Amino acid sequence: MAALHDKFGRGITDLRISITDRCNYKCVYCRTGNEGALYGDLPFSDYLRMARVLVGMGITKVRLTGGEPLLRNGVVEFVRELSKLRPQGLKPHLQDGPGRAAEAALFHEDPLDIALTTNGHLLADLAQPLKDAGLTRVTVSMDAVDPDRFARITRVPNGYDHVLAGIRAARRAGLWPLKVNCVLMRGFNEDQIIPFGMFAREEGVTVRFIEFMPLEEGRTWAPSTVVALDEILSRMAEYRPLVEIPHARSETARRYRFEDGVGEIGIIAPVSHPFCGHCSRIRITSDGKIRTCLFSVWDHDLHAQMRRGASDEELANFIRGVVAKKEERHHIGEPDFVPASRTMVHIGG
Ligand code: SAM
Repeated sequence: MAALHDKFGRGITDLRISITDRCNYKCVYCRTGNEGALYGDLPFSDYLRMARVLVGMGITKVRLTGGEPLLRNGVVEFVRELSKLRPQGLKPHLQDGPGRAAEAALFHEDPLDIALTTNGHLLADLAQPLKDAGLTRVTVSMDAVDPDRFARITRVPNGYDHVLAGIRAARRAGLWPLKVNCVLMRGFNEDQIIPFGMFAREEGVTVRFIEFMPLEEGRTWAPSTVVALDEILSRMAEYRPLVEIPHARSETARRYRFEDGVGEIGIIAPVSHPFCGHCSRIRITSDGKIRTCLFSVWDHDLHAQMRRGASDEELANFIRGVVAKKEERHHIGEPDFVPASRTMVHIGG
């Protein structure tokens, strides 16, 4: 059993750290359009200490997120420091090209996988420095392949070209596997499914569609706004036949390739096909709170422990106690659903 586990026996190996809750985009399904961060952020040295303690407890995958993580000055240096937490002598695995990297990632060969989720707006200039600093891979969020639609969703003019340049720079830098995440929201972008299939094939990226979850600031979610897995599959099949690819149990996405072998898509379906039983994740918010589920109604103040002078061992004990109480599952769409105490941008997706 993994070193860190909850009372349901799930091993916890995957850490997400939000390094800011500021964002330069105002995606309609995420934010209300307000300007500010609500919770603020911490010095990188504090996140680094948290990560070090957690890697010592069996975390093998660290994903940086936000808000928009690339808004933080010093993110490259932070990645460099994080990559020093890799067990000595072992290098990131992604030197041998896309096929090899995808295979390695599937079987978790990297002793410490360091990933980043970004809207890609600032990625073009940062992709190579991040790679050089030890970043393993990147996921770019992009909700339309049509520039006008993209602007309508993000509420930022001219973002599309920046994001496309970011994706291409990440490819050139060898940040593999390169994934593009698209949240589908009815009435906004379900007509982008087939264009994204074409995009996956043309750009050589894995496009993953995500079902819209009730984590938005505007509280507009309703079951009818969700474009679910079955619909995504049947729409894509109108374009080209798909073949399902076996995936690791703890992977959130169901994976498919096109029948002719060119292009891969994934579907992350937490609403219609929940995967809580295999959840291996915990999150640290930008203000240093641990959240054991996206839908937690409370969080656990790790940073307060640090401020009061806790030793690494005391931090580890605190973490162990928190993780043991991880929620069994979410209750989206059920009568007893209670909204999470924070929205996605302030948790870190
Ligand atoms: N700014 C970065 C980005 O855009 O990737 C990182 C933070 S963002 C909150 C992380 C991911 O959460 C993005 O892929 C975003 O599309 C997704 N997301 C935000 N709100 C969501 C919601 N209500 N349901 C599903 N996914 C959501």
